[in-house]
Amino acid sequence: MSTNSCACSASTDKFVYSFGGGSADGNGSMKNLLGGKGANLAEMARIGLPVPPGFTITTEVCTYYYDHGCTYPAQLDAQIKEGIARMEQILGRKFGDTEAMPMLVAVRSGARESMPGMMDTILNLGLNEKSVEAMVKATGNPRFAWDCYRRFVQMYGDVVLGVQKNPDEDHEPFEAAIAAIKEERYGNADVEDTKLSADDLKELVSRFKALVLERTGHEFPECPWEQLQGAIGAVFGSWNNDRAIVYRQKYGIPSEWGTAVNVQAMVFGNTGEESGSGVAFTRNPASGENEFYGEFLMNAQGEDVVAGVRTPAPVAALHDVMPAAFNELMRIREVLENHFHDMQDFEFTIQDRTVYMLQTRNGKRTGVAAFRIACEMVEQGLIDWKTAVRRIPADQVDQLLTPIFDREAIKQAKMLTRGLPAGPGAATGRIYLNAERCVEAADNGEKVLLVRLETSPEDLRGMIAAEGILTARGGVSSHAALVARQMGKVCVCGADEVIVDYNNRTVTVGGMTFNEGDYMSIDGTSGLVYAGKVETSPSEIIQVLISKTMKPEDSRTYQNFARLMQWCDDCTKMKVRTNADSPKQTETAIAFGATGIGLCRTEHMFFEGDRIDFVREMILSTKKSDRVAAVSKLLPYQKGDFKGIFKALKGLPGTIRLLDPPLHEFLPQTKEQQLDLAQKICMPVEVIMRRVAELHEFNPMLGHRGCRLGIAYPEITEMQARAIFEAAVEVSQEEGFAVVPEIMVPLVAFKKELDIQKAIIDKVAKQVFEEKGAKVDYLVGTMIEIPRAAVTADEIAETAQFFSFGTNDLTQTGLGMSRDDSGSFLPQYQELEIIKKNVFASIDQEGVGKLMKIAVELGRSTRPDIKLGICGEHGGDPASVKFCNTLGLTYVSCSPYRVPTARLAAAQAALEQA
Ligand code: PEP
Ligand code: MG
Repeated sequence: MSTNSCACSASTDKFVYSFGGGSADGNGSMKNLLGGKGANLAEMARIGLPVPPGFTITTEVCTYYYDHGCTYPAQLDAQIKEGIARMEQILGRKFGDTEAMPMLVAVRSGARESMPGMMDTILNLGLNEKSVEAMVKATGNPRFAWDCYRRFVQMYGDVVLGVQKNPDEDHEPFEAAIAAIKEERYGNADVEDTKLSADDLKELVSRFKALVLERTGHEFPECPWEQLQGAIGAVFGSWNNDRAIVYRQKYGIPSEWGTAVNVQAMVFGNTGEESGSGVAFTRNPASGENEFYGEFLMNAQGEDVVAGVRTPAPVAALHDVMPAAFNELMRIREVLENHFHDMQDFEFTIQDRTVYMLQTRNGKRTGVAAFRIACEMVEQGLIDWKTAVRRIPADQVDQLLTPIFDREAIKQAKMLTRGLPAGPGAATGRIYLNAERCVEAADNGEKVLLVRLETSPEDLRGMIAAEGILTARGGVSSHAALVARQMGKVCVCGADEVIVDYNNRTVTVGGMTFNEGDYMSIDGTSGLVYAGKVETSPSEIIQVLISKTMKPEDSRTYQNFARLMQWCDDCTKMKVRTNADSPKQTETAIAFGATGIGLCRTEHMFFEGDRIDFVREMILSTKKSDRVAAVSKLLPYQKGDFKGIFKALKGLPGTIRLLDPPLHEFLPQTKEQQLDLAQKICMPVEVIMRRVAELHEFNPMLGHRGCRLGIAYPEITEMQARAIFEAAVEVSQEEGFAVVPEIMVPLVAFKKELDIQKAIIDKVAKQVFEEKGAKVDYLVGTMIEIPRAAVTADEIAETAQFFSFGTNDLTQTGLGMSRDDSGSFLPQYQELEIIKKNVFASIDQEGVGKLMKIAVELGRSTRPDIKLGICGEHGGDPASVKFCNTLGLTYVSCSPYRVPTARLAAAQAALEQA
């Protein structure tokens, strides 16, 4: 092994941790060092589960490998040899033995968080021309021995030696060689692999080796130690392959974590009909139901189940095939849940009727399943409610709000076939048969479905872009199913009646043929596939809470949701408000548990009907009297809107922001719009054209918007303040609850701007209270969305009774990146890890977050009880919500449908802090 003689930078000199034979060096808590797989193999060995012996090379070695030009710490070689010797001792076999049954090993990756299918694996390692003969002799089963060798040469050739498809080839070269021998010897390239005889497999091995020599210029390695070294290097190398990088970006896994490598003695599921392999979940990962769930294939290795090449049988069927193995798995299922207190996803192999555990990990699950499992585990006493709150990924809560097919529309739809339900929800879209075209169509604004024979990690980008995924092959634990579930994508897999023709770009099923671009629909809860576009309708929770078309007692999902939200409230300090501009949005958000409005963007109220024309008239006016006239036309609308919102709020607090219209969004830009407006507001079109030209700004987002408008045109602030106070007084009189408006001044950079606007607001308040003979309490505050405001927050807080962080603009102005058109370079920034996440979605905590922290501290220094909130889009992002909690904000505010996500994130933050 290529080692480096320089001093080792890792934290210890132990790089190899052994497990098996009833003990282990490591344990389940050592995921950072041993990766998830390695830590849990150690843990299973410790609790007496049947784990074949092996060892884990730590993630520190991976870091070292990348930091030291792909070399290893000097001590590693000897430690690996010790690890192998320990395995040999436990098993009574020798690695590379050419006389007796040799010990073969599997070499697998294993990062801290599982990255299914993204990194490389090599099985059956240790075989060569001599040891395969020893294996034939020892097992008396030449077909089995040669099948193992064939698989090994194929995997090693592909993964380690890089023998892959050339751009001009249709098929993987090894697969093409298999198809060729099937055609030659059986006249059919599609006969099952199990039909191949020992002799066929032997011939295949030699053809594979010739292929390796031809493509790489090197002989296939015969020495087991050399094979092992190559495999370990390939697994470490695969940490930085393209698909692993894409996956890490999607799930925010830092590149510096690295992967561990697990070397484990092979057990064989392919020795014959007394053996098999399977993947199982202790509960149903799609629905969360408490049932033993999974699938198996007899006479197969684990890769056959996961790869989706043969469609496996449901694990329940094992009960009839091999009752003793089934009962052992049922026992293991219980041991696992009782030990790990979570739903487990495990791989097993049955070798000659004996069950072995190859892996266990906390199972990926849908948002729906996460809820159900957490709630039911609380009921069963397996976990407490706080664990349940912590465990449900906040960013998956929106899966509970995913649409289902419209009941009427689905009755009319033509059902084509049924596949396996792998990711719940309903999806409809235009079909595309490869990831690239899928992404392209989605970028053009189409709703798309990705249809594949089976998916592989290369399809990840297409899966991310698609509304749903349909595959013809593969079971519920196939790549498509696992990844789709994790992403919360609707997925139907193993729909074997679906004929996918990549060459002609057609899908044929149920007697109908669909071209790329045609609509199909899939139901990932039932597995049904439909022709055409089928309208979708909202989730059960939406039906109970929003449309009220379902009773709470009829929806188990709703009941779980309600329980969880209650638990959240029981531990949360920070409130969750909503960004809402209409009574309907406000009602929706309150139904989801919002405790008020954190941002009402009054300019959004002007997009409806004729109002936009009055706003345009107001903006285009050159004389104050014209402007006052235009503004006064808006007053009744504004007041009506505010009354609606105050009524919907039923006494909950509401922050109403004064007008903040980027002028380019409001001005008529095209000739037609200008002519049309000229007629409507009786203004010569030339005047309009001139004003539009005069008002043109190069950077409208940095232009005459926010309080700058109210300062130039105080009559606008006066009108809005009047509308707010008249509405507040009237609603409190009519409805009998207190209305306490919080009036928010946008885009403040100087204390004086706020002082000027506050003076107008106070003056109007006084007038309205006198006119009405009644008053309401009110607050005046500001947004903190300009860095200058953040760093002078102590001065601003002398006037402002509250701050709300406008992190959209604070990010835009703090980073100097346009919030409207920075899209082109941000993905590359993420790829290069200049930024960890999209800064407009998740707060840049080190930069923008620091500005927020400064503002919080300065604000509190002059007004200790200042109310603090956030109303940028980040208010619905779990990581940002948690960050806001550390700042001690009073509330976060987000769009109505993200309220449950923010509530859960806020509860998790509170629990973390506690
Ligand atoms: C903000 O800038 O974060 C904000 C909430 O205001 P707007 O998005 O309306 O500019
Ligand atoms: Mg803003």
